[in-house]
Amino acid sequence: MGEVPLIGCSQCGTIHERVRLENGAVAACRRCGAELYRQSILTLNSWLALVVTGLVVFAIANLYPIATLRLQGMVVEASLPQALYLTWQQGHRTLSIMTGLAGFWMPLTQLVLVFWALSAVRSGRLPMDFSAGMRLLKWSEPWSMIPVLMLGILVAMVKFSGIALLTVGPATWAFAVLAFIMTALSRMSAHHLWHYAEDAGLVAVSGEGGVRQGVAQCETCGYLQPAGEASTDAGCQRCGAHVHVRKPHMFARVWALIIAACVVYIPANVLPVMGIRTPTGVSEHTILGGVIEFWRLGSWDLALIVFVASVVVPGTKLLVLILLMLRRRWNGASIQQQRTRQYEFINFIGHWSMLDVFVVILMTTMANFPGVSQVVAGPGAASFGMVVVLTMLAAASYDPRRGWDTAPGRSTAVVQAATLVDQPQQSGPIGAHDRATS
Ligand SMILES: [Zn+2]
Ligand SMILES: [Zn+2]
Repeated sequence: MGEVPLIGCSQCGTIHERVRLENGAVAACRRCGAELYRQSILTLNSWLALVVTGLVVFAIANLYPIATLRLQGMVVEASLPQALYLTWQQGHRTLSIMTGLAGFWMPLTQLVLVFWALSAVRSGRLPMDFSAGMRLLKWSEPWSMIPVLMLGILVAMVKFSGIALLTVGPATWAFAVLAFIMTALSRMSAHHLWHYAEDAGLVAVSGEGGVRQGVAQCETCGYLQPAGEASTDAGCQRCGAHVHVRKPHMFARVWALIIAACVVYIPANVLPVMGIRTPTGVSEHTILGGVIEFWRLGSWDLALIVFVASVVVPGTKLLVLILLMLRRRWNGASIQQQRTRQYEFINFIGHWSMLDVFVVILMTTMANFPGVSQVVAGPGAASFGMVVVLTMLAAASYDPRRGWDTAPGRSTAVVQAATLVDQPQQSGPIGAHDRATS
């Protein structure tokens, strides 16, 4: 042992040595500038404490009401599980499952698995099913959307402040704290946990035995292995997940998902996302209708937030993906770097479009005053959620490394030390030796 583990850049495929950095420092790719890994400021025990806090706060957020609403002598206590139950009862099952996964099950899975993995690394013994657990964590990470849900709670509350007497419940504060904890925990990804296990000597070190040419990186655990042995049938030598040199069938998959998203985008905007039942009748609201209503009521800031999240973000995402798919010729490293930044950007903004979907299901539980005023989800909400899911899947099926592969005279196995960013006093490469290409 004693070998420096190797790490492949997820954006361009360049292989680097994963050297230890100063606490809080970030290593960036030499070729494309993408973040490779960061050295955590927190110790393993601090991370564990944070996850335990997250689990407690998660329980409070789901056991207590988000808000208590009073209207004409009726009292409603709104909570997330109740919102999911009501949406299900009203027959919007897809919507209930989608928001239930993003707002409840995925965050819970993430918290439990990170706790389990950290405890295992701390004890120095990995359970047999560590790989399976980390595969599940890797899979659940992008679909856990607590910060989006928190913003949804704020928007729903503002919508209600004028209609009913609203008292903020303990769950709102819990969700606010949880949003911060989950944002911090997004750093404790499956890859990061594998790095911990590597550093503790519990698993095989990535790139062991000197991987040079024809390298495949496992997407789940980051393990670098010879590509010849990693065909579609063969699993990762470390975690057993499917390994591919590049994401398979990228063109067919991404285009199919883009087209599907464009098709669903029409009902998502034309059909009402929610209806309001009052004794005088039912009024239906589309996404754009909601934005216009906010604007008329003078809440231009909320109108802007909802407009950006629901209209600009999905539109931009589709457009950027289409451009990335169309312009694949090599136009130099700087253009390719811009494309890589665009891809990172659409991955970053992706799930924020779920905002309006969360607002709708929260409104169904907040405005549950039968006979006076009742909000029900509309068919547009599920379509809108599908647009978000489809664009996220499209982005996940796109392989940014293929763009870099088109570079003329590209060497396949450059192994370098990572460079530091965020620390200007140490901007040079670290690690005394740059391993040469074989
Ligand atoms: Zn890179
Ligand atoms: Zn693996």
